Amino acid sequence: MCADFFELAETISIFQEEHVQYLHIDVMDGVFVPNLMLGTDFVRVLRTHTNIPLDIHLMIDNPIGKIEWFAPRENDIVYVHAESTPHVQRALGKIRNLGAKPAVAINPGTPLAAIEEVLCDVDAVLVLCVNPGFAGQKLVPQSIAKIKRLRAILDEGGFPDTEIAVDGNVTLENAKEMRDAGANIFTAGTSLLFRDGGTRTHIKNFFDVIK
Ligand code: ZN
Repeated sequence: MCADFFELAETISIFQEEHVQYLHIDVMDGVFVPNLMLGTDFVRVLRTHTNIPLDIHLMIDNPIGKIEWFAPRENDIVYVHAESTPHVQRALGKIRNLGAKPAVAINPGTPLAAIEEVLCDVDAVLVLCVNPGFAGQKLVPQSIAKIKRLRAILDEGGFPDTEIAVDGNVTLENAKEMRDAGANIFTAGTSLLFRDGGTRTHIKNFFDVIK
């Protein structure tokens, strides 16, 4: 949602050349979050232009009946918010049955305890480092400690391969701290990628910092 839509073809070809691993798609319904962004048709058209797997972040109320609208594929990650449905475990099972990688997302104010029972059902956990809805927000400071605690819970719980994704105010400086805390999937928006200086340069700088 942070990309310049009029330059999307050029941006995606840079992503392919620089081996970006996922395209992060922010889906907002104006109910779960106070914004309306990116729908099924956008995803369908995007698929015709690239084979980069999608990272589909569903910020929508009651996602269960809507997951298949996005036709998730084998290497895609689909995130459902723990706060968006009383049946998050069922939603995650549905993503698995559709053949994609299930993942759970949590807002800054949601305690890790809210997802402990579904850690065995996910391939990744997405820690929101800002309150979702808009680009360009500042990091909620307790996010770093939360990532660290989550990494420990995953490792001690027997899920060392479960990935931690971060979303919100991923700058070069914050990315380093997030990585040291245990994050390994970084969502790059306006804080890192889509700003003056050139997309390719920002990607290269990011990979240099993170390796
Ligand atoms: Zn997102």
